[in-house]
Amino acid sequence: MAPTPPPSPVQPAPCDAPRPAGAGGTLAVAVLGSTGSIGTSTLDVIAASGGRYRAALLAAHTSVAALLEQARLHRPEWVVITDPGAAATVGATALPAGTRLAVGPDALDELLRGPGIDRVVSAIVGAAGLRSTWAALDAGKTVALANKETLVMAGPLVTRLAAERGAALVPVDSEHSAIHQALRSGGSDEVVRVILTASGGPFRTRAAETLAAVTPEEALRHPTWSMGPKITVDSATMMNKALELVEARWLFDLAPEQLDVVVHPQSIVHSMVEFVDGSVVAQLGPPDMRLPIQYALSYPRRHDGPARRLDLAQGLRLEFEPPDPRRFPAVRLGHEAARRGGTAGAVLNAANEVAVGAFLAGSLRFTDIAEVCARILDRHEFRAAPSLDDIRRLDSWAREEVVQWSRS
Ligand code: NAD
Ligand code: MG
Repeated sequence: MAPTPPPSPVQPAPCDAPRPAGAGGTLAVAVLGSTGSIGTSTLDVIAASGGRYRAALLAAHTSVAALLEQARLHRPEWVVITDPGAAATVGATALPAGTRLAVGPDALDELLRGPGIDRVVSAIVGAAGLRSTWAALDAGKTVALANKETLVMAGPLVTRLAAERGAALVPVDSEHSAIHQALRSGGSDEVVRVILTASGGPFRTRAAETLAAVTPEEALRHPTWSMGPKITVDSATMMNKALELVEARWLFDLAPEQLDVVVHPQSIVHSMVEFVDGSVVAQLGPPDMRLPIQYALSYPRRHDGPARRLDLAQGLRLEFEPPDPRRFPAVRLGHEAARRGGTAGAVLNAANEVAVGAFLAGSLRFTDIAEVCARILDRHEFRAAPSLDDIRRLDSWAREEVVQWSRS
């Protein structure tokens, strides 16, 4: 691990002013990406909440059958299908009484801005999640943020928007939830560093020379977490930790030198914060996303919920080791993107998204993912203070570069 840097001031996270609950004390929740891994866990939390939360809007892209099934169970006011082609397959009688259908990302943004939504769970996968997160924050809503890509791509713009609109951003990512919780035990100027834990994924102990031959099936077999395919591959390369370093930098306004990563194969300690007096405060729990999701909905309070609990009576072994840079070159890219800021995060994220897609489709080797990302990050036309348009342009450029590279 890096030597301990001197303390530097840390601003409070842009996430300390959640809005009050709506009528009857029930929070009306919009679940974006409701058919995914985080989306379905969010619906578990809502169902177990005894009326604290209700699903007011469910949105998915193409998984129409699963979305309609969720609508029948949760009776939201709205279901939104962002892909118009998929929406065209919905029959007139498919929706339960009281639920209406909206189609496309513009319609979604408009509903999120409206008065019927108290909290937005942003759990769309990839860069596609940025626009709806932006719309919700622009309308001053509280966002429970799973879509880390939003902050990786446009962290400074997103946190500034939240501050200007009086919106709140509460992390769902388990590491950032742990950090958010640990930060509550000290002043922001007392934080020395933040240590993100990483499981190390399925290849933590595999010989580096053999990684080029890894198959998608092997990469999708995560030892501790059950997640969507994209983030599962990101965990196998540890690009997920790279993205999370950038996410943490912007979410908690940390200096790049304050960010550290440690591999912790049991995924029980979800991250830690070291304070000036040497205290290290950690948050622990079984690997179950329902806890950080619920925390993001209930913050600043806590209540009972469906997440699994630690059973210390069964015995508990916790191990920590530094990430191996030979096996996991992606981690360095995360430190680099966090240090450079500007357009580096957006380019790294876009290149990685396409590279992961190509790996899953069998047209790129596992080890090429980090390599192509490194090259594209090096070669891009860096901007230190980009606009959203600059970010979108470089996102498209990076995607095209990966396509060219995988053809060559
Ligand atoms: P997933 O693949 O299981 O689900 C993705 C959801 O997004 C689906 O509902 C899908 O319909 C929707 N979607 C996909 N493309 C879309 C588009 N273009 N427009 C609108 N909706 C679209 O993904 P997941 O694992 O649930 O991850 C969601 C987000 O949460 C990602 O940003 C991921 O990094 C983050 N996250 C996930 C976990 C986890 O445990 N799964 C943990 C931490 C953070
Ligand atoms: Mg995480």
